[in-house]
Amino acid sequence: MRRTKIVASLGPATDDPQILRQLIRSGMDIARVNLSHGSLDDGMERFRAIRTVASEEGVHVGILADLPGPKVRAAPFTASFDYELGDVVELRPGSDKSSKDVIEVDYDQLTSSVHPGDRLSIGDGRVILEIRDNTTDKLVGEVVHGGSLVGSPGVYIPSDRLQMATPTATDLRYLDAFVEAGVDMIAISFVRSAHDMRRVGTEPHPRGPLLVAKVETRAAVANLEGIIDASGAVMVARGDLGNELPIEDLPITQKTIIQKCIAGGKPVITATQMLESMITAPAPTRAEASDVANAVWDGSSAVMLSGETAVGIDPVNVVRTMGRIARKADEVFDHEAWARSVAAMSMTDDGSGHEITDAMTVAAWRASRELDVKAILCLSASGFTVRSMARFRPDAKIIGLSHDPKTVKQLALSWGTTPVELPAGGTREELITEALRITKAEGIVRIGDQVAILAGDGVGAKVTNNLRIVQIT
Ligand code: PGA
Ligand code: MN
Repeated sequence: MRRTKIVASLGPATDDPQILRQLIRSGMDIARVNLSHGSLDDGMERFRAIRTVASEEGVHVGILADLPGPKVRAAPFTASFDYELGDVVELRPGSDKSSKDVIEVDYDQLTSSVHPGDRLSIGDGRVILEIRDNTTDKLVGEVVHGGSLVGSPGVYIPSDRLQMATPTATDLRYLDAFVEAGVDMIAISFVRSAHDMRRVGTEPHPRGPLLVAKVETRAAVANLEGIIDASGAVMVARGDLGNELPIEDLPITQKTIIQKCIAGGKPVITATQMLESMITAPAPTRAEASDVANAVWDGSSAVMLSGETAVGIDPVNVVRTMGRIARKADEVFDHEAWARSVAAMSMTDDGSGHEITDAMTVAAWRASRELDVKAILCLSASGFTVRSMARFRPDAKIIGLSHDPKTVKQLALSWGTTPVELPAGGTREELITEALRITKAEGIVRIGDQVAILAGDGVGAKVTNNLRIVQIT
C-alpha cells in the first residue's frame, strides 16, 4: 500500500471524464485546479467534473484550487522573436503589445521596482535579461541568455522587488467563487509572511478550506515558522523557489521546509518538475525517479504533478508511474528512525489542549509498535488528531474518521491516511462502535487485527484524551 499521497493538476489533457475516472483509479488523491491558466469558468468546470466523477467512484478525492497570485506577464508578442546574447531590449509598463525591441510588461511599478544589475527571467528562463539602465518610463536590458519569445510569457521579477501583495484582488474573487462552491483546499501563491495567509480571511478549516501556503519566495523561507503556524498545509513550490534561490540551495531548503512542517503537524507537498520529461515521454528520466523517491524519504506528505498531467501526452501513465516509485520508496522508509526524531520534537504548550493530543499520539505510536497494531483509528472533527498522528509516519495504517465531509476530503492530503466518513451524532462509545463497524465492512480492518483507537469525548470534542487497544471480533 502506498502511503505518500499524489496531487495531480488538471488541465486540457484531463478534461475527458474517462481520463478523470482513470486518474482516480490510478491513485490520484488530490486534484489540483491551477487558476494561473485558463479562466475562472474553466477552473470551475474542472472542479465540478472531478467532484462528479469522484462521487460516482465512491472515493474521497480532495480538491485543491491554486490561486495565481501576483504573476506579471509580458503583453502579447506580435510574432515569435529570437533573442541573442548581447541584444539590447527596452521594457516599458503596458499591456498592449510587445515587439522585438520593446517588451511591454503588465506591471505599473516596473521602472521603480527593478534596478540596474537585476536579472529578469522571461518565459520560465527562456530569455534572461540583465538590466543596464532605468529611467522613469523604461528599463534597458541586455540579453544574457538567448532564446525565443512568443505569446504572453510570464516575467519573473525577484519577489523582494515586487510591490504587489498576495492575495491579489483577482485571487480574492476566485477564492470567493471556490469557497462558495465548497472547495476543500486553497493554495496561496507567492506568500511572504504569516500576514499574507491571514489576509485570505476564510473561516478556519474544516468549515473553510484548508489553506496551503506555497513557499516560493525568499521572504517565505525567512518567515517559515510563522507561515507554517498560520497555514493548514504547505507546498514546497520548487518552480518559483528555484528562481529565487541559487539552484544549489534548493535541495537543502526542501528538506528544511519539510522538517519544519512535520514538527508543526502540517501536511507538506513537494511540487514541480517531479516527472517533467513525461509531459512528452512515456517514461521518466533516472534523475526524476530518484527525485520522487528522495522527496518521499525527506518526509513529504504528498508529491505533486503539474504539466505532466495537465498538458502531458498520457496523464494516467504519469500518475501510475509516480505511484509505483512512491510506493517502492514508502516500502523502504525508515519508520522507526523517523518517528523517534518526531517524538523528540514536542509541540508548543499553548494551553489549547494540543499538548494532550500530542501526548496521546506519541502513546498511540508507541503502542502501535510494541503491540503489533495493524491500524490506528483516529476519530476527529477537524482532522487535527489525524494530522498529529501522521507526523510519526507509523507502519500501522492510519484511518482518519470524521463526521464532517470537508474534514474527510482535507485528510486525503495527510500522509498514510485512509479518510472515512462517519455518520453525524452519537456518544463516544457509539462513534467507536460505528467506526469499527464501517472499517470492518469496508475491509480496512479484519477480524483478529489488533487496532488502536484515538478519540475525544464525543462529536466536536476539542481534545483527544482516549486511547484504547482492541482486537477486532
Ligand atoms: P506554480 O506553483 O506551478 O503555480 O508556479 C508551483 C511552483 O512554483 O513550483
Ligand atoms: Mn509558483
